[in-house]
Amino acid sequence: MKSSFRPMLVNGPFQDPALYVALRWQGDALLFDLGRIDRLSPGHCLRLSYVCVSHTHMDHFMGFDQLLRLTLPRDRELTFCGPPGLIDNIRGKLAGYTWNLTASYTLALTVVERHDDRLVRARFRASTGFASEPLPDVVAPPHALVDTDAFHIATTTLDHRIPCLAFRVSERRHLNVRTDVLAARALRPGAWLAALKHAVRAGDDHARIALPNGESIPASVLARDLIQDQRGQQIAYVVDTRFDPDNGRRVVELARDVDLLYAEARFLDVDRDEAEKRHHLTARQSGFLARVAGARRLEVFHFSPRYQGMAQAFHAEAQAEFRGETRLEETESWVAELADAARSDERDRRVAGDARS
Ligand SMILES: [Zn+2]
Repeated sequence: MKSSFRPMLVNGPFQDPALYVALRWQGDALLFDLGRIDRLSPGHCLRLSYVCVSHTHMDHFMGFDQLLRLTLPRDRELTFCGPPGLIDNIRGKLAGYTWNLTASYTLALTVVERHDDRLVRARFRASTGFASEPLPDVVAPPHALVDTDAFHIATTTLDHRIPCLAFRVSERRHLNVRTDVLAARALRPGAWLAALKHAVRAGDDHARIALPNGESIPASVLARDLIQDQRGQQIAYVVDTRFDPDNGRRVVELARDVDLLYAEARFLDVDRDEAEKRHHLTARQSGFLARVAGARRLEVFHFSPRYQGMAQAFHAEAQAEFRGETRLEETESWVAELADAARSDERDRRVAGDARS
């Protein structure tokens, strides 16, 4: 399957967290956390449409100024999503500068906070000196955060002594064109394929698609032979959380079956007491959560600088637990219960799936 999301950690694993996800077909990009981003080129920054901030500790948020500086003179709409308090944090950042020369600028920032049952929103426009404009709240189902034609972003709130959001971005559907069928029918690829995919996504069976040879055929007829409809790609992003039953359950639910899980590993497991005190995960704990969630791949990052030069130890510890070569559930009862609960959830889902099909 050709991947639509192209994820890239902006910094090395010992530096600030920031995950850049380019959207291959849309041409824009998402950013998860906004620590130092000086390694991100201006071109990359200018493609951003959504920035999801887990929490506003400095190492996750100090890149805001740099991003603002780059986008200020541009005709852009940028949406920031995060936990309650983000609107005040951004208002405070913006209040730190003088905006008497931006009346002709068109940059607009929308800020979305995930609260229990709703999204609380505000808007800041360069043209008005970034005065805060409240927007109406949106009542939202649990976990919902961003919803677009091409992807959606779900979230869950973890405990880092403050609320810390974890995210999952999911491609809506992955529509593959069967090149063997194209070749067999001597059809040249072109803009009509994008129109066909658009019609399939919109469920518009009757849309007529104009082929390069002049024929016009209903989308549903073309799609039957030409388009393979697959589950979209899914990537989850989890940082700064303590390994406890509530957080564990939430991470497993969010990251269930994702293609790729980016998870923090602040400490090695030998220092797990300290990880607990500081509300962070160890590499082994991240490996366990990824395995129990059924993630296909795990990438750990956000290592404490105290272990500089030991990146390999983090990867080895996380992957050993992820592959089941070590099993954390054999050491603690609540961990075993979490693993059991995840297995029975998985069984229920499979039974429900069988009943539907
Ligand atoms: Zn952090």
